[in-house]
Amino acid sequence: MSSHHSEKAAHLHRELHSHLPPDPALRLKALETVLVRKGFLAEHAVDDWLDDYSENVGPMNGARVIARAWTDPDFAERLADDSPAAFHALIPTIDKGYPIVAVFNGPQVHNLIVCTLCSCYPLGVLGMSPSWYKSVEYRARAVRDPRGVLAEFGTTLPPGVDVRVWDSTSDRRYMVVPERPRGTDGWSEEALAALVTRNSMIGTVRDLSPVADGS
Ligand code: FE
Repeated sequence: MSSHHSEKAAHLHRELHSHLPPDPALRLKALETVLVRKGFLAEHAVDDWLDDYSENVGPMNGARVIARAWTDPDFAERLADDSPAAFHALIPTIDKGYPIVAVFNGPQVHNLIVCTLCSCYPLGVLGMSPSWYKSVEYRARAVRDPRGVLAEFGTTLPPGVDVRVWDSTSDRRYMVVPERPRGTDGWSEEALAALVTRNSMIGTVRDLSPVADGS
């Protein structure tokens, strides 16, 4: 590129920046406005999508399924054998073909989910993924040093507990079923579901307690 052209390109770049708001949220709004004006996006599509994911599709879908599995051994067995069918039975809006696999924690086993390639995540059952899940650091270290990653989340595994790391793909996503917390005998499914945190379903938190871990 000649120096004249590169100066012109730099000028254009500055010009563009001077018209775009510096705040990422405002930039996004500007982009959304352009897409709507050009007819690529329906007017309320983004708001509807965000409402749907924050109100209907959030981590409560996973939590409800886990609470049912804790209280109903037949359901737990079905969840282990055919996770999509069990999800669909409890939450009909989740498709029977949803590529979800429930992996169960136990006294000697702890499960952790990652997507080493990109950011595959069971959006339909856990809602939006946390930003750290998509970070290069988490994706690399969850496999190389899962115990170190867990420690950073405040989770220390008792000796003798094996860690299984599950690498998600676009056609196979995982959800961890944590162990039922002690001291919850006789609790309703609703109360149990409220104990299940997003991070416990990713596997970065192991012990749930009747006091929520605030994650
Ligand atoms: Fe991915």
